[in-house]
Amino acid sequence: MSTLKIEDLHVSVDTDQGTKQILRGVDLTINKGEIHAVMGPNGSGKSTLAYAIAGHPKYTVDSGSITLDGEQVLDMTVDQRAKAGLFLAMQYPVEIPGVTNSNFLRTAKTAIDGEQPAIRTWIKEVRGAMEKLRMDSSFAERNVNEGFSGGEKKRNEILQLELLKPKFAVLDETDSGLDVDALKIVSEGVNRAHQSTDLGILLITHYTRILRYIKPDFVHVFVAGRVAEEGGPELASQLEDEGYDRFLTAAV
Ligand code: ADP
Ligand code: MG
Ligand code: MG
Repeated sequence: MSTLKIEDLHVSVDTDQGTKQILRGVDLTINKGEIHAVMGPNGSGKSTLAYAIAGHPKYTVDSGSITLDGEQVLDMTVDQRAKAGLFLAMQYPVEIPGVTNSNFLRTAKTAIDGEQPAIRTWIKEVRGAMEKLRMDSSFAERNVNEGFSGGEKKRNEILQLELLKPKFAVLDETDSGLDVDALKIVSEGVNRAHQSTDLGILLITHYTRILRYIKPDFVHVFVAGRVAEEGGPELASQLEDEGYDRFLTAAV
C-alpha cells in the first residue's frame, strides 16, 4: 500500500522581514484511499504544509521528513514530486498567461506519465471531465486560470486532479469562495477521483461545510504550526458547534 508520511516537520518561510518559523513539528501519515481533513484557524500554517509537500522554493524545511513509500520527497524537485504521484490544488491557483488549458493539461500529463497520451482518448477524457465539472468547453482554449472567477479556478484545479490521476492530493481550501452548487460539483469531482483511483487526500479547510460532501476518515486540528488534536469525523462536528476557540486559548 502507498503511504505519504510526514514526520516532525519544521518549516520556515522567507519574508521581507527575515525568516519566520511556521511549522513546529508536524506528524501526519496518509495511506492511499484515506481522506484526512486538516482544519484550523487562519494563519495556523495549513498552506505552509501544502507548499512544503509540493516543494515551493520560499518554504524551507528546517528539519523532519516527508516520504512517499519510503522515498525522501524533500530530495525531489517539484517535477519529480508530481511524477512520483503528488498533486497540490492551490488555495490561490496561479494564472499562466500564454498557455492554454488544453496545452497545459497535455504537457503535464505527458511529463507525469513519461509519454504522450493517445490523442483521441485523451480529448474524450478531457471533454468528459470538463462536462462532469460543468465547465464550458471554451475553457479548454482559454489561458490557464486567466480571467477565471474564483469558483472557475477551483474547478480547474479539480479538472487537473481528475486527469493527472496522482496517488496523493493536497487540496488547499478548495471549498473557499464557492457557492453551494459549485461546492457540490467540486466535491463530486474529488469523490470521483477518490473512488476511481483510490486517491489519498489531504483536505485542508477552515470550514466544516465541505465535509458534508467529502467524508474524512481522520480529522487533524492545526493550531500554531502543530497538530493540536486529532480524531475521526466526530471531531469535525464538534468544531462545527464550538469553533476553534478552545484550541486557541490552549495555544497561548
Ligand atoms: P493558513 O493556511 O493556515 O491560513 P499559512 O500557512 O498561509 O496559514 O500561514 C501561516 C503563517 O505564516 C501566517 O502568519 C502567515 O502570515 C505566515 N506566512 C506564510 N507564508 C508567508 C510568506 N510568504 N511571507 C510572509 N509570511 C508568511
Ligand atoms: Mg477512502
Ligand atoms: Mg491557507
